[in-house]
Amino acid sequence: MAAVLDSRLKALLQSTFSRWRADTVNLQLSDDQMMLEATLERVFREHSTGPRIRAAEPVGFDQALWATLVGQGIPALRVPEDKGGGGMSLMHAVLAAEQAGLALASAPLVEAIVANRLLAVAGSGQAEALLGECLDGRAIVTLALRDAGREPQQLVPAGAVADAVICLEGDAVTIRRGVTRLDMLADGAGQTQHGAIAAQRLDLGRATSCIELPAARTAFEAMLAEWKLLTAALVALVARRAIDDAARYACEREAFGRRIGEYQGVSHALADAFVDVDGARMLVWRTADAIARRESGAAALLSMAWWWAASRSGDAALKALRVFGGYGATLEYDAQLCYRRAGAHALIAGDPERELLRAADLVFGPVAGRPAPAVALPDAGDVAIDFDWGPEAAAARERTRSFIARHGGAQMTRFMRDSLDGFDPQLHRQLAAEGLLYPEMPPEYGGPGLSGRSAAAIHETLAEAGWHLLVPGITGLVWRVIHHFGSDWMKQELLPQVATGDIHLALGYTEPSCGSDIFAAKTTATKAGDDWLINGQKMFTSSGHRSDYNLLITRTAPDKHRGLTLFIAPVKQPGYSVTEIRTIGDDRTNVTFYSDLRVPDRYRLGDVNGGTKILALALAIEQSGGGVYLGGLRQLCGAALAWARQDGAQGRPIDEPRVRLAIAEAVARSHVTDALSRRSIWNFEIGRVKKHEGPMVKLFGSESWSGCSQKLLRLAAPDTLLRGYAGAGLVEWSARRNIAATIYAGTSEVQRSLIAEAGLGLPRTRG
Ligand SMILES: Cc1cc2nc3c(=O)[nH]c(=O)nc-3n(C[C@H](O)[C@H](O)[C@H](O)COP(=O)(O)OP(=O)(O)OC[C@H]3O[C@@H](n4cnc5c(N)ncnc54)[C@H](O)[C@@H]3O)c2cc1C
Repeated sequence: MAAVLDSRLKALLQSTFSRWRADTVNLQLSDDQMMLEATLERVFREHSTGPRIRAAEPVGFDQALWATLVGQGIPALRVPEDKGGGGMSLMHAVLAAEQAGLALASAPLVEAIVANRLLAVAGSGQAEALLGECLDGRAIVTLALRDAGREPQQLVPAGAVADAVICLEGDAVTIRRGVTRLDMLADGAGQTQHGAIAAQRLDLGRATSCIELPAARTAFEAMLAEWKLLTAALVALVARRAIDDAARYACEREAFGRRIGEYQGVSHALADAFVDVDGARMLVWRTADAIARRESGAAALLSMAWWWAASRSGDAALKALRVFGGYGATLEYDAQLCYRRAGAHALIAGDPERELLRAADLVFGPVAGRPAPAVALPDAGDVAIDFDWGPEAAAARERTRSFIARHGGAQMTRFMRDSLDGFDPQLHRQLAAEGLLYPEMPPEYGGPGLSGRSAAAIHETLAEAGWHLLVPGITGLVWRVIHHFGSDWMKQELLPQVATGDIHLALGYTEPSCGSDIFAAKTTATKAGDDWLINGQKMFTSSGHRSDYNLLITRTAPDKHRGLTLFIAPVKQPGYSVTEIRTIGDDRTNVTFYSDLRVPDRYRLGDVNGGTKILALALAIEQSGGGVYLGGLRQLCGAALAWARQDGAQGRPIDEPRVRLAIAEAVARSHVTDALSRRSIWNFEIGRVKKHEGPMVKLFGSESWSGCSQKLLRLAAPDTLLRGYAGAGLVEWSARRNIAATIYAGTSEVQRSLIAEAGLGLPRTRG
C-alpha cells in the first residue's frame, strides 16, 4: 500500500546515497526470517479467518489452528535445535508474534514460545519430558506473570488451555500441572473474558503436581522479559490490523457524497494511530537488537517498548473502530474484536504505566531507599537486523563532541540560542574544515563524503548540546537539491563554496498567501533576454539575510502544478531586500522581497514549468531525518532530569511518581523517534524512500518534543516561569522553541495527510 517515489527519483537517490554498507545499520530481514513470515502469513490466512476466530470465542483457542502451528514447529522456534526446536533468534520470535497479532490468531503462541524455551534450557529431565509433549502437540505450557506464592490466584495468559504453568515463587521456579481453574465472572456464571485470548484465572496453589526446576530465578525473569517483548510485538500488530481494515473501509464508505477517508477527522486520526503503532513496532525491533548486542540500556528499552505498545495499541484500535461508525460496535465487524484483543493482550500484565515506572527506575535510578529492579534478559541469538549506525557515524559523533568541547562553553550556548541566528562565520568555516558542516558533501566538491547516518549523528549531537545551526541547516537542504537537479556548471560553481562554509543558501517556498499549499506560489519569473526577472514576496525565508543564493519557487505559467519553475537565485544584488521577523522561539526569520531581481538562465533548476517534481524530492529530503527533534527531546530530558534531581521544599521531585512518569515518557518518545528515524534514514540511503516514513519521523518527533515540553513546563512550574540555560529554564525555552518545529517543513496537519495518503492509501484531502 505504501507509495514510493517515482523511479527517476529513486535512481537519483540510489546513485547518490548508495554508500550504505553491510556492516552498518541494516533493517533488512534475513531470507529465513522472510520465509517464516511468509509461512505464517499463509497458515493464518487459511486458519485464522473471521468465522474461525468467532467459532473459537469465548475461550480464544482454535485447536485445528494450534495443531497446524505445532506441525510447522512454530511454538518451538526458540527451542535449541539439539532439543528438537528451530533454534531461531529472538527476532524470529518477534516476527512470529507480529503475524499472530495481525491475524488475530486464536492461539497462545507467545506463551508457548517462551515457555517451551525455558523447558529446553532448564536443565531438568522432567522439563524435557514435558517439552517433548509440547513439541508433538499433546501439551501446552504457559507462564504465570506474578509471584505464585504472593498471589496464588491470578489471571494467567493461556491459562484456559495450558496443561502446565511455569511459576516463580520467591526464588524457586516450578512447573505446576493440574492447576485448578477458577470462574472468570465474580458470580461464577461462566467462562468469559474481555478479549478472548485464552486467559484464565487459576489457583496456582491447588495443583496436582509441582516440580521445582534447577533453573534460576534469572532464567524465569529472562523468559518473562521475552514474553513482554513478544506480546508488545503482537499487540502492536493487532492494532495495525485494525488500522488497515479501517483505512480500507474509509476508501469505500461514503457520507455526504464523499468517501469518508476524504475527511481529515477520519484520515488524520488514522495517521496518528498508524504512527503510534508503527513506532511501537520499530521500538520492539530496536529492543530485540539492543538485547542481542547486550546494550546496558536494553532492559529499560524493553520496559519502554512494552509501555508504549500496551498503552497506544488499545487507543489506536479504538480510533480505528470509530471509523466504522455504528458498524464498528457490532459483533459482526472485526473492529470490536481488534479493540478487545488489543486491550486484553495489553492489560493482562496490569496497568502499563507500572512498566514505565520500571523504565524510570532503570534509567534514573530507583526512588531513594528502594532497591534497583532486577534485570534478566533472554539470549537473543542472531537477530539479523542491526540498528547501529556503524563506526563511521560513531567517529563522526565523537569528532562533533570534541569540536563542541574545544569551541563550546556557557558563552557559546548563549550565543547559539540568543543571538537570534547564532551565526559565527569563522566557527562555521572551522566546522567545515573538520568535515562537520555538510557531512554528506561529496569529495569532488571538497566535502568529506560521509553517509546520511553520519550526518544524522552529527546533527543530533549538535542539537543535544544546544547548538542550533540554522544557517547551515537550511543550506544543507538546498545543496542536496542542487546536487540532484543542478546542471554540472551549477554544481561546479556553487558546491565547492558551500563545502568550505563560504556561501550560504536559503529556502524561498512560503509566500504571504500560501505556506502549506506551496504549489500556489505567486512570485513570478519572466523572461528578459537570456535572463529572468523575479518579482514577488516570500515569507519566513530563514537565514535569508545571510544567504548568497535562495532556492525560489516561481510561477512561469498559470497551471497550478505545471506552471512552477525553480531557481537558485543569486540574491546579493539589487532587487532583493529583507525584513526581519522574530519568533517566540528566539528564531530569526525574514520576509524577502524580489523586485526585478535579475537571474541568468544558468541558475534555473530543472526544466521551465518542471518545478513540481523537484519539489517532491526537496520535501522528501527536508522530512527524511529526525535529528533536530531527537536532539531537542534529549536536551529536554536532560534539563528536566537536572531540575528533578535538585532538592526542593518537599524533597527531590524525581522521587515523585508523576515526575518520573513524565520524564520517562519523554525518554521513551525519544527512543521511538530514534527508531523511526533510523529506519527512514536507512531506507533513504538505500534508495527505497517510502513517502510516509519521513513525515512519520517529522510528525512524531516534533509533536513529542512539543507535547513533552508543554507537560514538563507545567510539571516544573513555577520554576519554569523563569528563563535560563539549564534545568527548568531550559525546559521553558524548549516549550517556546519547538512550537515552530511543528510548523516549518510542513505543519503537523500536512504531515498527517501525507502519512494517510502514502502510508495507508487514503484519498487526498488537500485539493
Ligand atoms: C520559524 C519558522 C521558520 C520557517 N522557515 C522557512 C523557510 O526557511 N523557508 C520557507 O519557505 N518557509 C519557512 N517557514 C514557513 C513554514 O514552512 C510555513 O509556515 C508552513 O508551511 C505553514 O504555512 P503557513 O504559515 O502559510 O500556514 P497555512 O498554510 O496558512 O496554515 C494555517 C493552518 O491551516 C492548516 N492547514 C493548511 N492546509 C491544510 C490542509 N490541507 N489540511 C489541514 N490543515 C491545513 C495548517 O496546518 C495550519 O494549522 C518557516 C516557518 C517558521 C515558523
